[in-house]
Amino acid sequence: MSAKIYYDSDANLDLLKDKTIVFLGFGNQGAAQAQNLRDSGIPNEKIIIANRPDHYAEDAKSKGFNVEHDFAKAAKQADIIFLLIPDQVQPRVFNNEIAPNLKDDACIVVASGYNVFYKLLNFKPSQDIVMVAPRMIGSSVRSLYVKGKGFPCFVSSEQDGTGKALELALALSRAIGATKAGAIASSAREETAMDLFAEQALWPNIIMLFREAFSVLKEAGCSDEALCYEMWMSKEPAEIFERAAEDGFIRQLKHHSTVSQYGQLNGALNLDGSAARAHFKDILYNQVLNAKFQQEFSKIEDDLEKEGDANPLEILYQKSEASELGQAEKRVRARLAGLLAQ
Ligand code: NDP
Repeated sequence: MSAKIYYDSDANLDLLKDKTIVFLGFGNQGAAQAQNLRDSGIPNEKIIIANRPDHYAEDAKSKGFNVEHDFAKAAKQADIIFLLIPDQVQPRVFNNEIAPNLKDDACIVVASGYNVFYKLLNFKPSQDIVMVAPRMIGSSVRSLYVKGKGFPCFVSSEQDGTGKALELALALSRAIGATKAGAIASSAREETAMDLFAEQALWPNIIMLFREAFSVLKEAGCSDEALCYEMWMSKEPAEIFERAAEDGFIRQLKHHSTVSQYGQLNGALNLDGSAARAHFKDILYNQVLNAKFQQEFSKIEDDLEKEGDANPLEILYQKSEASELGQAEKRVRARLAGLLAQ
């Protein structure tokens, strides 16, 4: 299956003419996307940053934006509203303060599929719901735009209330700089499935493999220092992924020694992936796509704002750092503080 790719030539910025565009949030993505959009020619007086009165609001003001602290007031003026506050607070803020004040034909833009796919936001059927989801952190969304380059981004129309949702999504993608290198047609379902799969299936396995590999090599007499540097502190894994993005996931191996290439390719081909595949399918279908994880997570969301042991995330950190790898790294970082600071 190949996806459609949208470029600048597929997007019409005129559709944004005379529209009042509200950014709810001026954090990571909000600050980057609002600045890009303004630099693409959307007049400053048509852009409103909705933010509580704090340092994010001050940052927006210092960059010359109009800031509105009253979310209801901002929502009432919005033809288009970008939801760029953390996913876990969006349902509460959107459903209570934004949705009741939005125009019937407003366009709501999300940068992640989560709340749309799990139907946690109260939209009216007459409204447009679109996803414009950069695959980059906000600082890169901004710096690549400033350099005149694009960035990878997923785009979709999730609800076409006005009949123009996709066209609007493309115009907005172009305005934030996402269609310059090509924005990939996707969906909230696809984005959520891939994101949560990576977080709950792929990366937990990678963390587990590092943890177990560390213990096996330590038992065989390798020092903590050598292991930490060999496995990640040298930044070799980061370089490998950089090369994978540039040269190809398999082809990057050509940069390694012949012994390494042979060992990696032969070793991977000899591994039976069927147990991993079954485990991955279980996570994808019985945890992510059926919303089991989302329902469990929503029960503990409020606890994630608590301090210390009352915060379940803190407990997970404590348990993970109690591992042989976690303890060894703490010792190594303390001993080599000078070297690491260089
Ligand atoms: P941030 O954590 O940077 O958001 C911070 C902003 O949210 C600030 O303006 C903050 O203002 C506001 N905010 C936080 N809590 C609340 C609240 N309870 N009520 C009102 N405003 C609040 O978010 P991101 O930019 O990281 O994420 C925004 C969206 O972009 C999400 O959907 C995310 O999935 C998506 N995304 C993020 C990427 C990233 O790299 N971070 C990459 C691609 C997509 P204040 O605290 O003053 O209220």
